[in-house]
Parts: sequence; structure tokens; C-alpha cells
Amino acid sequence: MNKTELQQHDREHLLHPFTDFQDLGQQGTRVITSAEGAYITDIDGNRLLDGMSGLWCCNLGYSRKEISNAIYEQLNTLPFYNSFFQCTTVPSIELADVLAEVTPAHMNNVFFTGSGSEANDTNLRLIRRFWDLQEKPEKRIVISRMNGYHGSTIAGASLGGMNGMHKQFQPLDYIEYVQQPYWFGEGGDLSPEEFGIQAARSLDEKIQELGPEKVAAFIAEPIQGAGGVIIPPETYWPEVKKVLDQYDILLVMDEVIFGFGRTGEWFGSDYYGLKPDLMTFAKAVTNGYFPLGGTMVSDRVAEVIKTKGGEFTHGYTYSAHPAACMAGLVTINILRNEKIIENVRDVTGPYLAKRWAELAEHPIVGETRSLGMVGALELVKDKASRARFDDNCTAGGVCRDLSNKHGLVMRAVGDAMVIAPPLIMTTEQVDELVEKAHRALDDTAKALA
Ligand SMILES: *Cc1c(COP(=O)(O)O)cnc(C)c1O
Repeated sequence: MNKTELQQHDREHLLHPFTDFQDLGQQGTRVITSAEGAYITDIDGNRLLDGMSGLWCCNLGYSRKEISNAIYEQLNTLPFYNSFFQCTTVPSIELADVLAEVTPAHMNNVFFTGSGSEANDTNLRLIRRFWDLQEKPEKRIVISRMNGYHGSTIAGASLGGMNGMHKQFQPLDYIEYVQQPYWFGEGGDLSPEEFGIQAARSLDEKIQELGPEKVAAFIAEPIQGAGGVIIPPETYWPEVKKVLDQYDILLVMDEVIFGFGRTGEWFGSDYYGLKPDLMTFAKAVTNGYFPLGGTMVSDRVAEVIKTKGGEFTHGYTYSAHPAACMAGLVTINILRNEKIIENVRDVTGPYLAKRWAELAEHPIVGETRSLGMVGALELVKDKASRARFDDNCTAGGVCRDLSNKHGLVMRAVGDAMVIAPPLIMTTEQVDELVEKAHRALDDTAKALA
């Protein structure tokens, strides 16, 4: 099929995730045909620097034959076996071992799933089971944050705080939402430090309102990813930690984006010095090469689940899929052997921070922020008042399309432009990214003038 035929068949048969089908019908999909290193190539032969690592997945880029070969060999040896009924496979044991090593010291057990959404479903099951076995069945409510993202199953989308999603289904009734630590959008005249404290106190207020004895857990991303790469003010996490320590409430960190090195530490929890009870992972664990997710379980929770009560009546056919686990093992080995995360922390992360911050000078940029290999910038019509170009935040989409035209993949979240480039990016490629982003901003300013 040629490009036009592919687009036509796509329109006729493929329902895409998070897509306006009328829009798609008019514009047609972009057909991506190959990828190499930090670049993707489309069907017209355009080569784009991938500033998004696929969908926050391909931290090692697209050319790691070690991973694909290991998957292939595993599929030829034992393509599938389940881990129900007291059975197991070698790669799943080995990956569980390695995960216990690279995650925080108090986390030594893993429950495997096929995705991040499923892992958050698993978290809900584990939270309930934990409190029931502790004979505290009144602890039922899970607190989450507005504009957080935790996946798209009913549990994942209920845990998330995305209004656009909540409007299209019935969220679970035992989930409550508190303020997000989004200073640029909601901080008003407060300093970032003051606002960070305020956002953390909103959690305390909610706990008081609900009654601490009824609150089972608090779930959050260390930094909101899909919400727009919202890096909380420095005061936020220490204050949240203080609040949670006062009450007996489990902390669930959703590390689906920030796990496996994005901040320059193995996990966002390491970066912020947090000690979660449960930790969700997916995406980069296999470098995006094979679907795999899971949740790391702290010793405190694992003790209870493993020694009290009987069967934990939960699991997925593809929990601990051997080829997926093999992909995870090789990915983690590469991260370790090539000291990729240390390089982000010491070299490319600081370099990206310096170069990305230069974009704040641009007339239509209200703020830039970055950490490790992740960043965002806010498009504004007026820097001083932080006023947007229009109420529907359509400038982001304009900038994204122009960015593609200049050979760079950036994502638009409303009027925030976000990047999460592969961790293997060189400083030269960081220069290329910033230069292309600059040109896209110039063109966006012209288009919106
Ligand atoms: C992507 C994502 C999920 C959902 O993972 P899926 O594999 O798409 O189900 C959950 N949480 C966060 C923070 C994510 O970014």
C-alpha cells in the first residue's frame, strides 16, 4: 500500500488512542516506518529527532539489537508460560532479582503486569488487601491529584485526575482529588516555595476532611508527565512526606515515566528521597520493545500480603511474560553497564538544563523547566501576565506541527511544549534539539501574530 492507501485503511479500520477521529479523518495519520538511535523516519523519508522517546519509553533509543535479539531467542526457547499455579520461568525470576537491586532498598518484591494501567489496578487491589489483612477495612479511600495521569483502564483513569477523561466514564467513587503542584498555572502571586507548601497542605486538609482513619493511600507521579511535565516546587515533596508521616497512609509512587533514569537517578523516588509503599513502573522498563509493567512492593506491604490470609485472587495471563521479562533484564543491564543514568545526572542532564533555559528568552515563552532528560516550556502571548494566546490553548498544537516540520518531535499538552528525549542523547543532539525548538518557536510566533 502507498501512503494514501495506508492512511485510508487506517481511517477505515483503526481506532487510535486519545484521538479526535474527525481531525484524523481530515489530516490523515503520520506513518512512521523506521527508527535509529534517537531518530524516527516517516513514510515520506523525513527524519525527525525524537524528543519524546516514542511515548516516554525508548530511553535507550531505537537501535539496541541486544534487546530485540534477546526477545527473539527467548521466543524460540520458551515463547510463553504463565506464572499461575506455582509455575515460574527463568527470565521472570532474574528480572525480579534485578528489580529488587535497582529499586529503593526497602522494595524487594514485584508483581508483573502488561502495562502501567494494569499495574495501577493491581495497586488498588494490593492496597485493599493490605488494609483488610491488617483488620482496618474502614481504610478505603485513595487520594490522588487533579491533572495526574495513572493510565486509561477504569482504575487507572479514576486514579488519574484528568477532567476530559472523567467526563467520558463513571470514575470509582472511593477516589478523591487534591491540588496539583503546578506553580506556573495555579501559583498566582505566591512564590514557587510558598505554593509548593500550599499544594501539600491541600492534601492535609483533604485527609482531615475525610478522616485519616478512612484514607488508605495517596498516589502521585514524582513529576507529572502527561499533565505537562510539572516539576513540583522544591518545598512540595518534603511537606507531603511530613503530612503522610503523621497518618498511617500508604504512599504509591507512579514511576511509569520517571523510573529507569529519566531524572538522572534510577527512580523519581530516589531523586526526591521518598520511601514509597508501592511503586508503579512500565514504559522504559523494556525500552518500549515489549509490553511490560508492574508494581514494586515494599517489605512492609509484602510481609502482610505474603504471610497473612490465603490466596491473593488477582493476576493477568501475561503477568511475568518470559519474553517481556527478558527485554526488561537486557534493558536494565545496558543502563547499568554503560552508566547511562550517571551520564544523564553528570553530563547530558545539566547540559540540557543550560541549553533549554536559553529558550526562556524567546518572546512567546513564559517559563522553561527541566530536570535530567525531561523538560517543558509554556507558550504565552504575554510574559508578565502569563496570558495564553487563546482560552482553548491551541498554540501548543501549532507549535507541535511546526516542530515536526523542522525535524523535531515535541509534544503539546495544552500550551505547554514537553520533551523527554532518549537518555542516550549526546550533547550535540541536545544542541540540535534546542536549535530546532527555537526555529519552531519563531515560526509559531509568526503564525500566531
Ligand atoms: C503511561 C502512564 C501510565 C499508563 O501506562 P500504560 O502502559 O499506558 O497503561 C500510568 N502512569 C503514568 C504516570 C504514565 O505515564
